[in-house]
Amino acid sequence: MRVDNDDILRSSGTDVRKCMKCGKCSGACPSFDEMDFPPHIFVSMVERGDAAALLSSKSLWTCMSCFACVERCPRGVEPANVIEAVRASAMSPQGANRMRPEDVPVFLGAAGECLVPQQLLASAFRKYSR
Ligand code: SF4
Ligand code: SF4
Repeated sequence: MRVDNDDILRSSGTDVRKCMKCGKCSGACPSFDEMDFPPHIFVSMVERGDAAALLSSKSLWTCMSCFACVERCPRGVEPANVIEAVRASAMSPQGANRMRPEDVPVFLGAAGECLVPQQLLASAFRKYSR
């Protein structure tokens, strides 16, 4: 599976170059023992342009999105968002199965009532349309 490292950097919304490799994010991570690439390594690999190697990592699925790493990071790097960006890439590769605005009416009933929670639609757009 191919991944666009620049796309990951863009969609994470954070600047991995600010990482000073202090490891505090990994020290705070409750999933550390379950991860092959703990958050500080994960961030470092994305910074090096090596996101492709993370697509099949255990870390993608053992991160609980608890944001402890985000709170702990002294540089505002937000490792959880970097992991989320790679996870989104693994789930929805560029050009495949992305939701488009014209797909939305499928989720609306004949009378225009919404058949799914609106938060779900907003969240899907946020995740898959970057
Ligand atoms: S806590 Fe922040 S600065 Fe330190 S290693 Fe983790 S991401 Fe980098
Ligand atoms: S968000 Fe993920 S990487 Fe960050 S501390 Fe929680 S489990 Fe660890």
